Amino acid sequence: MSVQLFAMTCGWVTMPMKMLIYGTEGKLKIPVPVYFIRHPQGTVLFDSGLSMRVQSDGAKALGPLEPYFDIHFEENEEVSARLADVDMDPAKIDFLVSSHLHFDHCGGNDLIPNARWIIQKREWEAATIPESIAANSYDPADFDLGHDRVEADGEHDVFGDGTVRCIPTHGHTPGHQSMAIETDSGPVVLCGDACYLRQTIEEMRLPSRSGIYDEAAMIASLEKLRSLQKAGARLMYGHDPEFWSDVPQAPVALA
Ligand SMILES: [Zn+2]
Repeated sequence: MSVQLFAMTCGWVTMPMKMLIYGTEGKLKIPVPVYFIRHPQGTVLFDSGLSMRVQSDGAKALGPLEPYFDIHFEENEEVSARLADVDMDPAKIDFLVSSHLHFDHCGGNDLIPNARWIIQKREWEAATIPESIAANSYDPADFDLGHDRVEADGEHDVFGDGTVRCIPTHGHTPGHQSMAIETDSGPVVLCGDACYLRQTIEEMRLPSRSGIYDEAAMIASLEKLRSLQKAGARLMYGHDPEFWSDVPQAPVALA
């Protein structure tokens, strides 16, 4: 059996376009993607989407971020419900990988209670310092849940065979990571927020200040993603609604 990859939309968020691409106007409704990976030696979830607090209370649950976001997150769009589409019990997921600790990427961590949690060491460290929690808009209620934690310091090969790898793409946050997967149909890279939209990488258009922790690191990460793309990888952009409209959803495999 080879590695299978599934995409799941776990809600939508409407936000100011300029937060995604600096210098633009208006709003954009963006998908909240979660990915499930089935490897012969275990199962992996890449990100967990929005919290159930957000499903019940909407943007109010986001505290200081409330003014910027409209939430569209219905019952059964949460990751634990979506995993039923691939016959996966959320309590039996082996590894939960967080790209980073923003509310739309780790809000569902409590729905994946027994997984080993893989996060970049730098991201975790930033999430333990009060000033840094505030500066990066983290909410420890999303992720400080006592998971058995693996702190990756750079690249991390989940199964030791090169097929499912966390790759550091710092810049959006202190320790953002993406995921590179070798599938039968070729390499796929789950960008996370290292690359919000197709336009981000094709035109090198960065987000507004709120979406950047370290601009030079973010540009270097985009260059790294671009070189992976040139080498044949299919890039899965973090929040691109137009791109996402053609992505097959679980239970149909993406690759
Ligand atoms: Zn983010």
